[in-house]
Formats: sequence, C-alpha cells, structure tokens
Amino acid sequence: MKPILISGIQPSGETHIGNYLGALKNFVYLQNSGRYQCYFFVADLHSITENYDPAQKYRQIIDVVLNYLAIGINPEKSVIFIQSQIPEHSELMWILNTITPMGELKRMTQFKDKSERQKENVNAGLFNYPVLQAADILLYDAEFVPVGEDQLQHLELARTLARKFNSKFPVGRKKIFVEPKPLLAEVPKLMSLSDPYKKMSKSMPEGCLFMDDSPDEIRNKIKKAVTDSGTEIIYDSEKKPAISNLIRIYGGFSKLSPKEVEKKFKEKNYGQFKKELADLIVESLKPFQVKKKLLSKKPSYILKIIEKGRKKAEKKVNPKIKQIKKAIGLEK
Ligand code: AMP
Repeated sequence: MKPILISGIQPSGETHIGNYLGALKNFVYLQNSGRYQCYFFVADLHSITENYDPAQKYRQIIDVVLNYLAIGINPEKSVIFIQSQIPEHSELMWILNTITPMGELKRMTQFKDKSERQKENVNAGLFNYPVLQAADILLYDAEFVPVGEDQLQHLELARTLARKFNSKFPVGRKKIFVEPKPLLAEVPKLMSLSDPYKKMSKSMPEGCLFMDDSPDEIRNKIKKAVTDSGTEIIYDSEKKPAISNLIRIYGGFSKLSPKEVEKKFKEKNYGQFKKELADLIVESLKPFQVKKKLLSKKPSYILKIIEKGRKKAEKKVNPKIKQIKKAIGLEK
C-alpha cells in the first residue's frame, strides 16, 4: 500500500501565489509522482474561526475545489472533499482536545498573530485550530503532509498528540496513530509584495497576488511591489529581502534557482526585471485561469466530484473513528 498524504486549503478570501508556490504546486507534483494516496480537502471548519461573511462562504468553498481541479489535482487519482462533510474530523478533535495541554496551544504563533489581528473575535475555535488540524491528519493515518512553513509548528503538535495518544491508550502492540511528517515546497514561505518582512497572507490582501488576478492586475501589482535600495538583482534575503522575494517568485514559476535568476538578470535593472517577472506570471497562470473558467460553467460536474470525494473519505475514516472510540473506552 502506498503511504497516505493529506493537506487542505481554507476557503477564506482568494487563493494567492503563496498558496500556489508553498502548497498547490507541490500537491500536483506529489500526486503525479504516483508515490502516494492523496487526499486534498477544503478546510471550511478552520476558515470560520476568522471573521467571515456567511453569504460568501459556500462560493468560497466551491472556489477552492475549482482551484484544485484547475491547477491539476485529478479526482481520478486524488480524493477531493469538504472537511465539514466528514463529521469525524470534529469528533476526533474533541477527543484530542482532552489530551492537549492548554500551554501548547497558547504558544502557537498563528494563534498569537490572529488574536492580534482580530482582537474583537479571539474565539475558542481559533485557540483549538491546531487540534482540529491534528484530527484532520491523524484520522486518515497520513504519513505525509505537504504544507508551507507557517504550518510546521501545528504539525509538530499533531506528532506530539499522536505519540501521547498511542502511549496513553495502547491497543495491544499496534499503534492507533501514525506520526505525520511535513513535506515542504521549494518556496515554503512567500512574503507579501507590500512588506517583505510579512508572509503573503489572505488576511492582508494588499500584499497578495491572487491566482485569479487579470494580466493588468498582475502587471500593476508587480510594478508597485516594494523593492530595496540599490539597482542590482541580487538574491540576499537579509540585505535585499524585497528583491529576494521577487526572485523566489520568478524561480517558482520558471524552475530556475535563485542563483540562475540572478545570472539571467545580471545586466538588468529593477524595472526590466519586474516587467519580465510580470510577463512570466501572466503566462504561467493563463492555463489555470482558462481551465477554471471552463470548470466554473459545470456546477453539476463539480458537485459530483465533491460527492465522490465525500464517500471515499467517509469510507476511510469510518473504521478509524470506531477504533479510536474503542481505544478510549467509548465503545466495546
Ligand atoms: P491557508 O490559506 O492558510 O489555508 O494555507 C493553505 C496552504 O498554503 C498551507 O499549506 C500554507 O502553509 C500555505 N501557505 C499559505 N501562505 C503561504 C505563503 N505566504 N508562502 C508559502 N506557503 C503558504
């Protein structure tokens, strides 16, 4: 049996090129390697921990599914499903809550950042977010989780909880949970176009380049992206964080390493580099955007894929949750 791999994307705001270079691009590569059984889900339960408009949520959920399909996730090879349609995620989260120390959750940098950003809505869901994430992974016996760097701390908690559960509730010699490992992409942390010291993030749309942006929007955003002092295209994250970020984007879309990008633009200035970068992004996103437009005209096909994914995910987790409940004495 091939090892299981799982990952999700939240339906909150639009998907940006940080999600693409840090996660989606790798999802497609890993799926096509044929080495894993892949599960990709829409993390809608996670997304309601932040401020949101209920009237937009369903559209955003479908949008993530469209992104998966348009970028190359193949529903014949991978399982695509919606988190909230599999109630076992929430059920296991509750069980894991009972072995999660509050102190571990208080240390989470994402919780601290988000609490700072939405001071009026520091809810318990935001606090327990990493426990739900651990449930998402452990429920499927996933050995691998492709994520961006921002999720490494959460993944470490999932590993800790797996170990803790296994030793607290032993079932013969067999361990209930697998300890998952992260798989990082080549660009595990893309920074904002407006502030190279902050991660590109849906919650700060002013610094994002979105996958659905039109060629004009892409050209404008790249033109306006902050740069560093000087004129040379040099990759140096400390001294030239803004240009280094743009080099990373160029590398991510062209398969060139940062050094190769540097060499290619040796004689060029910021303006020339930015122009070529914008052209490259426009061209690279075109097939995705065309495919997405076509798919968005086939709502019943999309619903069929979601239903097929729900059935497959349900089949996988049904025996697992029974096994877990037995281990903790809730079932005979
Ligand atoms: P989210 O939008 O928080 O659901 O994130 C979906 C995936 O994209 C996760 O694997 C994140 O780690 C990854 N991701 C989000 N923002 C970035 C970024 N700025 N750079 C690289 N990866 C990212």
